[in-house]
Amino acid sequence: AMGEIRPSAMREAIYWSDIGGQQEIKQKLKESIEWPLKHPEKFSKFGIRPPKGILLYGPPGCSKTLMAKALSTEAGLNFIAVKGPELFSKWVGESEKAVREVFRKARAASPSIIFFDEIDALTIKRGIGGEGGTSVVERVLSQLLNELDGIESLVNVTVDNALMRPGRIDRILYVGPPDLMSRREIFSIQLKKMSCGLDVDAEEFASMTDGYSGAEVVAVCQEAAMCAMDEDLDAKEVRRDHFLKALSSFTRRITPEMIEFYE
Ligand code: ATP
Repeated sequence: AMGEIRPSAMREAIYWSDIGGQQEIKQKLKESIEWPLKHPEKFSKFGIRPPKGILLYGPPGCSKTLMAKALSTEAGLNFIAVKGPELFSKWVGESEKAVREVFRKARAASPSIIFFDEIDALTIKRGIGGEGGTSVVERVLSQLLNELDGIESLVNVTVDNALMRPGRIDRILYVGPPDLMSRREIFSIQLKKMSCGLDVDAEEFASMTDGYSGAEVVAVCQEAAMCAMDEDLDAKEVRRDHFLKALSSFTRRITPEMIEFYE
């Protein structure tokens, strides 16, 4: 039978080893969050505090969410996911309450990580400044910043991927498209989950996917498997030619222009 293709489900625990490459970012997150939590005495000896807020930015599909999840698994943090748009309510007071509630939950579940996703919705709404929209955004933002200020004494609450401004977000990390070595690792991780022919070589595919995001690399593997099944529903394995076919017809999701925008 074919090896199963298992897309990493949302709730599944993610470990550092599930993330191909991106060593530098992993290392920075370990140093700045995992170490202080695991060895607080070493850090207090030098008067170093873990950062309160970290902003991960970069083109889509390049492992920002995976990083936050691995961090929560490996550092033993409860993962509290908040989608930016969920915080918006046109009712005065409701948005602030929603933000307070998120932080209350995080404190109760401490040590925890609050992961703000789709926070760009904030900036977009802000930019357009549509009626009503601006004031809700301002309210969410100011409550968020209030809560972040209050965290000073709460070493055990870490806010990840939140908002700007010095003193609140003390680390900004660019998570870019995987380099050659990282892509080879992502391919290897995927290939291990599939039954592959002996002619399948992660190194070769990595060299053919310059500029691809991690999500695109994963998608190529899935399409290759589909090619194999298309040809023969009872296919025993995915072969090199299936990968080449998938690569030649692959529709890119991130473009050089998008990457330039983030850099
Ligand atoms: P967005 O900005 O769209 O939220 P993101 O940077 O948060 O994107 P992720 O959600 O972390 O991206 O990645 C999307 C998917 O791509 C992952 O679930 C995983 O399947 C795959 N992926 C991305 N990068 C890697 C990687 N370095 N190793 C393994 N899989 C990866």
